[in-house]
Amino acid sequence: MSFNIAIDGPSGAGKSTIAKRLANELSFVYVDTGAMYRAMALCFLRKKIDPADETAISDACADIDITLAYQDGVQRVILNGENVNDYIRAEEVGIMASNTSIYPAVRAKLTALEQKLAETNDVIMDGRDIGTCVLPNAQVKIYLTAEVSARARRRYEELVKKGVAADYAQIEADIKERDYRDMNRDIAPLRQADDAVLVDATAMDIDQVVATVREIYERAAGKQ
Ligand code: C5P
Repeated sequence: MSFNIAIDGPSGAGKSTIAKRLANELSFVYVDTGAMYRAMALCFLRKKIDPADETAISDACADIDITLAYQDGVQRVILNGENVNDYIRAEEVGIMASNTSIYPAVRAKLTALEQKLAETNDVIMDGRDIGTCVLPNAQVKIYLTAEVSARARRRYEELVKKGVAADYAQIEADIKERDYRDMNRDIAPLRQADDAVLVDATAMDIDQVVATVREIYERAAGKQ
């Protein structure tokens, strides 16, 4: 049986950085489910579909094929045969992903793919609904969060480092809006699973968070 680690939490809490590092240390497959929602969103944007038009979004889902490929441990999201890794990180795509992830057709498609991956691989999967809906039987569940100001500051510093113009107030407002949408949608809203361990990274650096999550994993693996 495969070993599954679920990491959920709001945008910018550091889930993907932590999950990637741990996957590397433990030789697990890292599955970034946000990237899958982003790839679907990219496709909707390219087709110029209105995110409020649920029928058009649901119809478009039927023609979308998403797969994951791994090269040197790096996840590549393949959208209808094209590697879209370079396009899915734009703010516009993140906002479209948040707006379209509310629809059952979008969620059903990706949930099935995520469950299939976890069935046959030891995975660290991060997202919003992994511990609550996608992998309810995951052996380890983490809810990783941080205060909004800490998450906005990190995102701002990341952009500045890349030489991208950034507006701190706007970033903070976008994060709050995305949190609200992710936590208040009808299907699979972001929330801490009853059996998840809460890790608040507000005052922790990456090494400390990785060590904390690893300790939780080792305790759980020892009991297997
Ligand atoms: O994590 P990331 O910011 O890449 O995710 C983009 C968006 O995809 C999120 O704001 C969320 O609305 C959606 N998402 C989701 N369920 C997941 C992963 C991401 O609804 N498991």
